[in-house]
Amino acid sequence: MPTETRAGLVDSFGRRHNNLRVSVTDRCNLRCVYCMPENVAFLPRAEVLTFEEIERVVRVATTLGIDKVRLTGGEPLLRRDLPRLVELLAVVPGLSDIGLTTNGILLAREARRLRDAGLARINISLDTMDRGKFQQITRRDDFDRVIEGILAAKEAGFHPIKINAVAIRGFTEDDVVLLARFALEHGLEMRFIEYMPLDAGRLWEREKVLFAAEMIELLETGIAPLKPTADQDPRAPALDYEYTDGSGRVGFIASVSRPFCMSCNRIRITAEGKLRNCLFSLEETDLRALLRTGGSDDQIAQAVRDSVAAKWEGHEINTARFIQPERMMHSIGG
Ligand code: SF4
Repeated sequence: MPTETRAGLVDSFGRRHNNLRVSVTDRCNLRCVYCMPENVAFLPRAEVLTFEEIERVVRVATTLGIDKVRLTGGEPLLRRDLPRLVELLAVVPGLSDIGLTTNGILLAREARRLRDAGLARINISLDTMDRGKFQQITRRDDFDRVIEGILAAKEAGFHPIKINAVAIRGFTEDDVVLLARFALEHGLEMRFIEYMPLDAGRLWEREKVLFAAEMIELLETGIAPLKPTADQDPRAPALDYEYTDGSGRVGFIASVSRPFCMSCNRIRITAEGKLRNCLFSLEETDLRALLRTGGSDDQIAQAVRDSVAAKWEGHEINTARFIQPERMMHSIGG
């Protein structure tokens, strides 16, 4: 296997890719309205990559310059024995960071084991501080278990813990300040996410997007003035701010109003082994076929390079050309 220079995975726009998001399952124990319908057919177990197959793809990807992995779903904690995968990945040479995005429902049970296995960072999804609204959004009554999960993650020593909240106009405006207060109270970091057109029902409308600028205004009125942080990572999706009173930080993922595609460093692999070079990709590369038909590490590496080389400039949400991918958010992994 030829050794790649660390700058290896560079696309035609000069963007270097070092971040791989791995969906370990398309299953979820919630049914968020902006993600999937109530009734959904999940992948048969045999079609989902094994931990060993994921480890192999990650190991090959690190030789190309990937050094960060984020485990996602569906809900990744529904994958039995996920800490074992973390252990497998924690010893992959060249991998400096393993993160997880979870809805928190099973976290009270798993937080300690994940931490001990080598998980470094955790993002927990919570869009509201209101139980009834939580049920409206997720179609499940698990608000308390998410809060328990957040506190268990704190107890297990994760820091900083980021809370991902999708903000929808006319629905969760009031939660922006309430969530931010909860986060400040518990030493957590909010990540407010602009609503994106990846929902199953194709209900997304621009009018429903609560823009980052508006959320900043709500927080400055409701909590304290904000200023951009000095340590903004130019390739991270979030715009980082801090309260001028020193009480904490908050980030905004402004995919619609302030797209960050020109600094994108992320590629994704779905639970059944399809490589996506963009969240909104309309095309995919089948790595599972290579994995299960005797493909070599070189062939897998070449498939990854080819996918990155073919990556477009970015999503076209703000243009008339925009085409929503067939795939729903739960089977991409965000
Ligand atoms: S939309 Fe695609 S190109 Fe843009 S930041 Fe997201 S993954 Fe990257």
